[in-house]
Amino acid sequence: MLKVTLELRCNVCGGERFMIPTLNEVEQDVRCADCHAFKCRSDSLEETMAHAKRRLAQHGQWGRLAS
Ligand SMILES: [Zn+2]
Repeated sequence: MLKVTLELRCNVCGGERFMIPTLNEVEQDVRCADCHAFKCRSDSLEETMAHAKRRLAQHGQWGRLAS
C-alpha cells in the first residue's frame, strides 16, 4: 500500500491521506489512511477524483506522495 495525499476527503473523518494498493495486491480498495474507511475502488479512483475536483472546483496535482 502507498500512503498518499489526495484531493479527496474521507467521508468519515475528513482526512486527506489515503492508502492506495499497488498493482500486485489482491485488495484493490482505496481506504482512508487514518480511519481505514473505504473510499473507492482503485480502478475508479481517477473517476472519483475527477468528480470531486469538479464538485470542489479545485486545481492542482492528481496527488502527491506523503511518504
Ligand atoms: Zn477517515
